[in-house]
Amino acid sequence: MAAEELAHLDSTSLASGLRRGDFSALELMDFCLRRIQRADSRLQAFIEVFTDDALREAEAVDRRLAAGGRLGPLAGVPVAIKDNLSIAGRSLSCGSRILEGYVAPYSATAVERLQRAGAIVVGRTNLDEMAMGSSCETSIWGSTLNPWDLGRVPGGSSGGSAAAVAAAMVPLALGSDTGGSVRQPAAFTGVVGLRPTYGRVSRHGLVAFASSFDQVGPLARSVRDVALALEVLAGPDPRDSTTTKEPVESWGSSLQGIEDAPSLAGLRLGWCELAGDLAVDAATEACWRRSCQRLEALGATLVPLQLPTLDQALAIYSVLAPCEASSNLARFDGVRFGRRAAEAEDLEDSAVEELSLEDLYVRSRSEGFGPEVKRRILLGTYALSAGDRESYYYRARRALRQVRRELREALERVDALISPTTPTSAFALGARREPLEMYRSDIFTCAPSLAGLPAIAVPAGLTGEGLPSSLQVTGAPFAEAKILRIATAFEADRQRDEGMLRPSMEWMNASGVAA
Ligand code: GLN
Repeated sequence: MAAEELAHLDSTSLASGLRRGDFSALELMDFCLRRIQRADSRLQAFIEVFTDDALREAEAVDRRLAAGGRLGPLAGVPVAIKDNLSIAGRSLSCGSRILEGYVAPYSATAVERLQRAGAIVVGRTNLDEMAMGSSCETSIWGSTLNPWDLGRVPGGSSGGSAAAVAAAMVPLALGSDTGGSVRQPAAFTGVVGLRPTYGRVSRHGLVAFASSFDQVGPLARSVRDVALALEVLAGPDPRDSTTTKEPVESWGSSLQGIEDAPSLAGLRLGWCELAGDLAVDAATEACWRRSCQRLEALGATLVPLQLPTLDQALAIYSVLAPCEASSNLARFDGVRFGRRAAEAEDLEDSAVEELSLEDLYVRSRSEGFGPEVKRRILLGTYALSAGDRESYYYRARRALRQVRRELREALERVDALISPTTPTSAFALGARREPLEMYRSDIFTCAPSLAGLPAIAVPAGLTGEGLPSSLQVTGAPFAEAKILRIATAFEADRQRDEGMLRPSMEWMNASGVAA
């Protein structure tokens, strides 16, 4: 098989091609590493690539295959990991100076489960500092670029993982999604992103941002790939007490029939008017209309809904996420984790003794955190402070319960909710300097996060400007099977008409980097 063809296969086909002997794990890994070498000097999706270990592990898969040994469902599949998930023995930065020098002493359960399924971890991917952001521009490692247009952002905060999949450097990557960080970058780069139901996937080893909303989720080139990844990732974990005992289903294999004969007959899909705070730009609206027509043509009934709390979701998230972050990030004090203020280390012992512990905290945290993270810590601390707690934190918690109730009730009347994933397609680098403007990227992704619901972002074709657009399908708690089926039917039907979304990456040849 020609090496370039590997770039277009998803993990499901790669895993079976490998078993059939169409190519070896080493050939596949070699292809991915070379592609990373060519493309990533521009894109900067990776913070670190584990070249030698990845090649060694690929050889081990080939040996096991030759010996007729048992292989996991992702055997030999290269995966990239967002750099807020621990990989034992590797640096873990969260894109922040505060974690400088920190090496993870254990692996996140999600990483461990991928490895147990045979996947090979290729490297750590870039993110907005501490997973706070929508553009992948706030990392100490610099911005990741969008392979569709190097002048645009890949979305965030899992922008590195999204760009790595979109540019075919790896077929599968992990991200984390608190308010949209898997789905929004998936939308901006034309890949599939799944946020599982809260509690479906262990958060053990994920650096906490807002613990009531954080979930680990896969990004991939096809719906069946995120389904397969979910099969591997899901299930209770004694190390994360919020994981539930809901049964792990064969999500991946159950989709085959739908791909062959896509139909949504008998399904009711709820949608809300894209007006007021939920307004989208014209290009997104055009793609959204086309998506609705496609869903109807596939047999779905589109049910208009009034969900008045939906346009409050972003405001609620903007209070609660910083509150939880301000508490979670208190652990980065320059003592137990993270970087200690440089001056303190250079000082004579006698001078250090004069420094109070508080000085040390303040100096370490002032140096270690970037402006967006500081903004959130300040906001959260303010909203939780005595006197203001009632007007902000408790009020937002009450509003949160309303959102939860309203969405869950709606999902008893319809099979799933649909919306665009984002109000615009990928924006230009540096274009959103105003925090509120940046936060608006999450207007559709926040609500499922608040309500703990599973939601998937699936490519919905290109805008007139040639940029990816995306459809979000949200389900009832633990209804992943249903949203995966809907997304698969939509994906199969769209691809039959328009083909797979794939960036041209002409810049890769023009960049002068040897093949
Ligand atoms: N963009 C959102 C934020 O900045 C969501 C981040 C996330 O999901 N990690 O908070």
